[in-house]
Amino acid sequence: MSARILLVEDNSANIYLATFLLEQRGLIVEVARNGAEAVALARARPPNLILMDLHLPVLDGYEAARLLLAAPETAAVPIAALTAFAMTGDREKALAAGFCEYIEKPIDPAGFADQVGTLLRGPPPKLS
Ligand code: MN
Repeated sequence: MSARILLVEDNSANIYLATFLLEQRGLIVEVARNGAEAVALARARPPNLILMDLHLPVLDGYEAARLLLAAPETAAVPIAALTAFAMTGDREKALAAGFCEYIEKPIDPAGFADQVGTLLRGPPPKLS
C-alpha cells in the first residue's frame, strides 16, 4: 500500500510542486493549508509522514506539531519541518520541538522525493 503524506503548506506554488513530485513517486498526498486543518486531518486519519511548513495561518507549524505530538493518535507520526526561513538556529529549534527533520525551501525538484523517501524509511538501525 502506498504511504500517505500530509502536506501542510499555505503557498499554492509549493503545494503544486511538492504534490507533483511526491505523486510521481506513487505517494498519496493530502493537503492542509493551515495548522488547525492539519491537526484535524491528522487526527481523523493519521498519515505515515507529515511535511509541515512552519509559517502558517491560524496555527503555526510549531503549535500544530506540539498538539500532534501530544495526542495519542498522532504522537508516533514523524513530522518534518518544511520552511524557507532557514536562519541560524532554526534547524536546532525545529529538532528540539520534536520535528524529525528539517527540509529547506525552495523545494529542490531533483532531491525532494528522495528526502521524503528516506524519512518514510525511518532512522537507520543503531549499531550496537
Ligand atoms: Mn507558509
